Amino acid sequence: WDLPPGGAPVLMAIEAMRPGLPQASGLAKAHFASDGQITKRPIRALTLSALAPRAGELLWDIGGGSGSVSVEWCLAARGARAITFEPRESRLENIRTNAAAFGLDHRMRAVLGKAPDVLDGQPLPDCVFIGGGGSQALLDYLWDILPEGTRLVANGVTLETETLLMQAHAARGGQLLKAEIAEAGPLGSMRDWRRARPVIQWSVTR
Ligand code: SAH
Repeated sequence: WDLPPGGAPVLMAIEAMRPGLPQASGLAKAHFASDGQITKRPIRALTLSALAPRAGELLWDIGGGSGSVSVEWCLAARGARAITFEPRESRLENIRTNAAAFGLDHRMRAVLGKAPDVLDGQPLPDCVFIGGGGSQALLDYLWDILPEGTRLVANGVTLETETLLMQAHAARGGQLLKAEIAEAGPLGSMRDWRRARPVIQWSVTR
């Protein structure tokens, strides 16, 4: 196609003014109400890629925090739905605020409580994300109740969760990923790398 009069700079200016949300997963933190407990943008993008949402699928988002993963799950695929499980009332409020802000009230539900107990009696999902509350008891419970073919992705940052996910990978297979991300920041008049905690991510299909 032809460039408008003025060429590339004009095109770039138009691009910068473009309204609306970016279409790729990994939205900036500023889009979400949170108390700081929110999966970092690059890790969220990797997580959504691993969750691989498809039209109409249901996600269980265990350890919902701000609900950012559920929001991006619902945005990524037509008619996708999410149930977010979170034991802290104040975070449940953030989840509901975010669902409303993104126009996803009808596709997201926030449930107060701790996994695995809170999962009892919920409609079975196509995919499960564990962003908090990972334990052997939770993995065993899920393995028991989830139908074959259900996808499971678990993120961890603590030594305890890392051990859990390494053992789960050895026992059940799937993929184990370690993401070590650093971002440049100011150091006096120069810059240095700000290292984020390494995140361990286990993905498996039941
Ligand atoms: N993915 C979230 C951040 C998760 S932080 C986001 O992007 O916003 C981890 C969350 O797990 C915390 O909010 C914590 O309250 C919750 N959590 C801890 N133990 C849990 C359990 N047993 N069941 C459900 N949630 C739990």
